[in-house]
Amino acid sequence: PPGLYIVATPIGNLGDLTARAADLLRSADLVLAEDKRVSAKLLSHVGASVPMRTYNDHSDTADREAVIARLGSEVVALVSDAGTPLISDPGYKLVREARAAGHHVVTLPGPCAAIAAMTLAGLPTDRFLFLGFLPPKEKARAEAIAEVAAVRATLVLYESGPRLGAALASLANGLGQREAAVARELTKMHEECVTGTLSELAERYADAPPRGEIVIVVGPPAPAAEPTAKDLDEALKAALAAGE
Ligand code: SAM
Repeated sequence: PPGLYIVATPIGNLGDLTARAADLLRSADLVLAEDKRVSAKLLSHVGASVPMRTYNDHSDTADREAVIARLGSEVVALVSDAGTPLISDPGYKLVREARAAGHHVVTLPGPCAAIAAMTLAGLPTDRFLFLGFLPPKEKARAEAIAEVAAVRATLVLYESGPRLGAALASLANGLGQREAAVARELTKMHEECVTGTLSELAERYADAPPRGEIVIVVGPPAPAAEPTAKDLDEALKAALAAGE
């Protein structure tokens, strides 16, 4: 049926395109692409010849209105350059406005670098906070990290090779000794996942910016130590003394 279809695409390995995504792209009336050159390759890979329209961070209300006008009668697919649309990628305003206009919005889930990295890191996955990209400037980055330092959850961040060393140094500074992982080139030939404490990783990458795309996963803060019998005794004495 007509509507807006959110289609996840591979993050490096074309074999990860789902069968459902390939079928949808072949039968779509329009593909909204972040970068038409990037998505053209994917469409030709699945043998789809579908008109494309650019939809990216620069798209405005008028662009969305033009898309929404077609959703009642056409199958419109939203794709990103890689991975799941809307996850550190454009799309949420379009989804919101499509819903508000009463159109079908359908998701075709698939690859997402943040989730893939968490499956490799060996860190707790029961609670996680996705932070997207940290600010590039040091002061803003330190502030963003301070804001989440007390959160009892695994942190997941996107980063680029050239900025990795600086990001890890800020994380080590702001979060202390935590276990972490640097997941790189996921699903590609040179996929790797390097683990260590934040300061070990910061040191390793300080002068050796790696190539490729990166996800940083940081484990949660160590649980506060259980109070000892002596702690409890002292707390009790202090409370009694305060009540006298
Ligand atoms: N929407 C995408 C997703 O679902 O993962 C993310 C888009 S975001 C603009 C691009 C960032 O995702 C990269 O800078 C990198 O941090 C991460 N990323 C994408 N592909 C990756 C891969 N194959 N390996 C590691 N990180 C990747």
